Amino acid sequence: MINLKIPPEFRLDVKMKIRYVQAPDLDERVKRIVKLLDLSYIDPDRVKCVRSYGTNAPKTIARIHGISKAFLIGVGMKPHYVIEFIAEKFDKLPDDEKDEIIIHELLHIPKTFSGSLLDHGRIDFDGEVKVLHKILKRRLSRGASQNSSR
Ligand SMILES: [Zn+2]
Repeated sequence: MINLKIPPEFRLDVKMKIRYVQAPDLDERVKRIVKLLDLSYIDPDRVKCVRSYGTNAPKTIARIHGISKAFLIGVGMKPHYVIEFIAEKFDKLPDDEKDEIIIHELLHIPKTFSGSLLDHGRIDFDGEVKVLHKILKRRLSRGASQNSSR
């Protein structure tokens, strides 16, 4: 006879279930940022975005996932990256902050686009994000004024 009574400490908490959903709108946003910032070493078609729901990560708004060389060679696949956005937090942010977060995550991608990730010690993330975000805003506004009929 099978005892279906599971003691509480072994029960999965239903509320903790994490859900991931593909985010084509964020794929487009990433693509635009990569183009406007001329990050030519990044293949935006191989950077995919997902929203996660129910993640228990108090300090995280987004994170980028790389892939190991062993896996890539083993499967015979080109490097890819996935940026995960903690939906409950990210979706509420103003556009400027969203763009800054995307730039930050993109900075984790090394120039080799190998599937591996640069960690925070390697470059001045906050400084780089500030500079790149300024450039992005300038290029975004230039694009907007080019489209308006003056
Ligand atoms: Zn980071």
